This record gives sequence, C-alpha cells and structure tokens, in this order.
Amino acid sequence: MIEESIRPALPIVVMTDLDGTLLDHDNYSTAAAKPALTWLHTHQIPLIFNTSKTYNEVYQLRRTLDNHDPFVCENGSAIFIPKAEGTGYNTEFIGLRYSAILKVLHQLRQQGFHFRGFNDMPATEVAALTGLSIEDAHSAKSRDGTEPVLWQGSEAELVAFKLALTEHKLQLLEGGRFLHVMSQVDKAEGVIFFRHHYQELWQANPIVIALGDSDNDRAMLEAADYPIVIPGKKSTLKINNSAVQYATSHGPKGWNQTLLPLLEQLLKETRSG
Ligand SMILES: [Mg+2]
Repeated sequence: MIEESIRPALPIVVMTDLDGTLLDHDNYSTAAAKPALTWLHTHQIPLIFNTSKTYNEVYQLRRTLDNHDPFVCENGSAIFIPKAEGTGYNTEFIGLRYSAILKVLHQLRQQGFHFRGFNDMPATEVAALTGLSIEDAHSAKSRDGTEPVLWQGSEAELVAFKLALTEHKLQLLEGGRFLHVMSQVDKAEGVIFFRHHYQELWQANPIVIALGDSDNDRAMLEAADYPIVIPGKKSTLKINNSAVQYATSHGPKGWNQTLLPLLEQLLKETRSG
C-alpha cells in the first residue's frame, strides 16, 4: 500500500501549491527554487504538490522536476501515491468522484439551472477560454473531483444553485475564470492524509512545511507546522498560525529564500538534539 521509502534523517514533508508559489506566475518556471529543490532531493525529503490542477497537468511537471513523491490534485479531492513497484498509483478520492458530480449537475440542469462545464465543452472551447494549448486543454478536461463551470443564469439563480449543491454535499468555489463545483473538501485534506501516511511509514511524527499564495491554500497552511505564505500578485494572504513566515519575494524566488533557511534551521536543531 505504501511506497518503498526510507526514513530521511529529518522527518519532514514539504507540501506546496504550484501556480504563483513553486511556479512563477507569468512564465511557470521553477528555476529560482533550484537550490531548495536540490536540498530536498539530497536529504530525501518528500516534496508533495498540492494543487487545483488535474492529474495530467501535474504529471508533466513531476517529470520535468524528476519528482517521484505523492501528490494531491483538484483542491484536496484526489490523492495519488506512487506504487512501490514503480508503475501506477494508489489513489484516494476524498468526497464525490467526478462522475457523481456530473450526475448531480445533470439533475440540476434538468431543474432549470443554466451553466456550461468543462465536460460540456470540446477541448477547443476550453482552450479558447483558458488560453491553454489544445493538448493542455485535453489534460484540463480529464478530471477526478472538481468541475469548472461558466455561470449562465442570473445572480438570484446562482444563490439557489449554491444551496442546491449544498444539499448534495457539494460546494461552489469562485476561481479566476470559473466557478468550481466540488465536494466540501479543501487542500488541508492533503496535510491530514500525509501526516498519517508518513507517521506509518517512518514511525515518527512528520513535520509538515506548507507553501502557498492564495485563499485556496489557507486551510493547508493553517494545518501545517511551518506555513510559508508567498506574496500574491495583488495582496498577501494573512493566515492564522503562529509559526507562519511571510516570504518577501514572489513565486519560486520567495519559495527558495524562505524554505532553505527553515530547512537548515530544522536540520541544525535535529543534530543538536
Ligand atoms: Mg497559487
């Protein structure tokens, strides 16, 4: 069930948001985070992506960064753990599966709500709306637990729609371009899951460091032992956790500048017992 792994000298797990956090907001580069990424690799510390992206979207980045650790997709709704044999994943779905969400949406449409979701759109339409390539639009359309929709009804109907979703144990998250229909879960599911996972694997309580920049990272950051807030493009998230550190630079640069000294400090503390 669990991947082959040895307990690192430091029982640390680093969990990170991607867009605007590990990835540069504009060019998606991770270059400025290279020293900290290398440090984690050298010390065999798991780096867990916890993102609103889909499995296919994360897959490419894991290849690029030679990352073999577990990851969390679609805002805490799907958890992927590489199998020990080296092929495939063990998966945990938190909340309703995508097919069940589509079924609810179908019902609500029958009841007269007007919206258009990724499942209703060909890849060309998703590409046109998001600016993604057709290939990336296919990746974005392949989903496990959240459905982005464009709202086509009135504001009053939207209020009724939200209420109807709640009755199905679903919620509506407002994103930049889309509304996201999903289970009542958030990125903290990843922290809860992997605390348990690594405690079993290492027989030691893992220290969880989490990095994020947006409101959908709040629950993950507040559940972590050492949260690092990366400044957002317009404003900086304020979170309720006394151990919080606020990076002074954006994206991967802030990621590196704040994470590396924290790791060094935790290593020093462990060595001096
Ligand atoms: Mg982000």
